[in-house]
Amino acid sequence: MNENILEIKNLKRHYPVSSGLLSLSKTTVKAVNGVSLEIKKGETLGLVGESGCGKSTLARLLTGLEKADHGSINFKGHKLNEWTATERSTMLQMVFQDPYSSLNPRQRIGSIISESMRIHKSGSKTEIQRRVEELLVQVGLRPEHHKRYPHEFSGGQRQRVAIARAIAMNPDLIICDEPVSALDVSVQAQVLNLLKSIQKEFGMSYVFISHDLSVVSHISDHVAVMYLGQLMEIASAEELYRNPLHPYTQILLDAVPVPDPDMQGEDVIIDGDMPSPISPPSGCPFHPRCPKAMDICSQTQPKLKETVSGHKVACHLY
Ligand code: SF4
Repeated sequence: MNENILEIKNLKRHYPVSSGLLSLSKTTVKAVNGVSLEIKKGETLGLVGESGCGKSTLARLLTGLEKADHGSINFKGHKLNEWTATERSTMLQMVFQDPYSSLNPRQRIGSIISESMRIHKSGSKTEIQRRVEELLVQVGLRPEHHKRYPHEFSGGQRQRVAIARAIAMNPDLIICDEPVSALDVSVQAQVLNLLKSIQKEFGMSYVFISHDLSVVSHISDHVAVMYLGQLMEIASAEELYRNPLHPYTQILLDAVPVPDPDMQGEDVIIDGDMPSPISPPSGCPFHPRCPKAMDICSQTQPKLKETVSGHKVACHLY
């Protein structure tokens, strides 16, 4: 069995905010509120949830861009903060949502892709140039593209450049934060396939963050469903799609479009908006919107419990 590359225990990130008249009262946004996860070497963990569920804050905590208030992140057997920023930047990379703003418009593609290699002095000028050309080919672009600027590429091609930059130092883990949601549907599949083939070739792990379960299903070994800063359910991708247990996961899955028009179900709408993380509901955070809510749900918070091997769910129904 593969070893864990990343272990997160009871991670919390709360932000103090001012509210009320004249902003006099102080309160807290619980963006990430007690998340525990493991990711194995060479595997992809899909992290799914609606906008505002805390998944992007979790991504920033994992890359060290933000510090957690509580809990621990172990990366390759050491606490994340035991690695220096330089070490982290070689082992841990990010691919962002927007390929337009994540690439410096004034830098040539070659310079963008080679930046970390130049910082880490990982070869002579000629060797780095050769590596850039190799990376461009690996992501489906042409070696001569190194001379171009980001504006000369389409959105999908820019995301390929961002992937080339991310894999330049052979990282162990790449955090992909909504990497295809800004792309046309036809281009999404190409970028997902590229990420998969790169993983197969180089064996790195991914945390793949998305609001879209159908996108996550294409790439993930395990899927974690997040709501209001907490995990609602986690299982292998196959088990989660075959046997979703949490009512929130069931609703998200019912909303995934089916290609066959004869198999389309009724339109699925989740009742109400997601509550504010400033004043999350008592008990189960999903209870105000849950079609299966019981009396206990508004009073007692369910714990994340294992039901069958490796399948955990936080719901009083189980
Ligand atoms: Fe619904 Fe209750 Fe389960 Fe929460 S604990 S998901 S409210 S049934």
